[in-house]
Amino acid sequence: MRAFVMTGIGSAGIVEKPVPRPGARDAVVRTTAALFCTSDVHTVAGGLGDLTNLTLGHEAVGVIVEVGPEVRDFKPGDRVLAGAVNPNWSDLLSQSGHPSQSALGDWRSPKLRDGVLAEFFAVSDADANLAHIPPGVPDEKAVYCADMISTGFAAAERANIPLGGTVAVFAEGPVGLMATLGASLLGAAFIIGVEGVHERQELARHFGAHAIVDPGADPVVEAILRLTGGEGVDCAIEALGRETTLSAAIEVTKPGGTIVNAGYHSSGDTIGIPRIGWGAGMAEKTIASVLCPGGRLRLQRLLRLVESGRVDPTPLTTHVFSPETMLDAFELMRTKGDNVIKPLVKFDEARLPRAEEHERLAAAR
Ligand code: ZN
Repeated sequence: MRAFVMTGIGSAGIVEKPVPRPGARDAVVRTTAALFCTSDVHTVAGGLGDLTNLTLGHEAVGVIVEVGPEVRDFKPGDRVLAGAVNPNWSDLLSQSGHPSQSALGDWRSPKLRDGVLAEFFAVSDADANLAHIPPGVPDEKAVYCADMISTGFAAAERANIPLGGTVAVFAEGPVGLMATLGASLLGAAFIIGVEGVHERQELARHFGAHAIVDPGADPVVEAILRLTGGEGVDCAIEALGRETTLSAAIEVTKPGGTIVNAGYHSSGDTIGIPRIGWGAGMAEKTIASVLCPGGRLRLQRLLRLVESGRVDPTPLTTHVFSPETMLDAFELMRTKGDNVIKPLVKFDEARLPRAEEHERLAAAR
């Protein structure tokens, strides 16, 4: 099969790899749609070390072609969503209520699994980490539940937004946009999007922002204080991964409020906290961080929101690619050219091995 891999620090490309085989509780899925993510760019840049030949990607949907003998609820032919993060549910971090962190541990271990930007991918513990996609939800929408909706909503959920509360979202990229929508669904009455790119400002309004602060045109902290009558916001969400935006998020949050970091801080040894904005340590502000949660129950809930029509991620897809042109999709994500939000890769079913053929090959092995 073809797979999009890191070919060295700073480079990526398509290589041939064997189709994965499932472990006893795993599933192998034929990819139908996948998304590139900015974190793939960070990974290729060396953010997690030299992972040469590792298949990239963690946002995909597809059709199951093979399951291990202990899988109960999924079978070949099922159309499924896989989460970006596949927790190990027997890990102690999972038992402590932080399943995403068990998977984060996996990223750093030598047992790092191949990603989903390939014609087939494997999912560990299929019964716990896959969800059936409802018939009314197309692949192009369901695939956003893997990471963008899940992570953006996790940021809004962690922010403890009071009904009628005020929220500032720093950077309206795909995660920020879904955090904006999540804040709106959770009952925020005034949402401020901090974003300099015109097209993203428009999308932020589409997904629920009531006001926009353009950091290129206005000092951000002053502008947010002005918009909130000098009070600041109940909650701030950082969806960029920069020290300056996290610092501004802390400054604009009211005493007692919550700041949620969803951005990936990819460089530097420390991240500073503004002393006065932090009330010299006494303002009772909570700084939380989130990683995309995993698990079937959450994926099912997110898919239900899409099925009901309350969530429609379609405007996030700004570009569509074929598997042959995945390097172009990656470059677009790396350069953030052409106002890209998310590049969607659609895998053409007709040219790929069919499920039965794969099963025949698997049996022959
Ligand atoms: Zn992602």
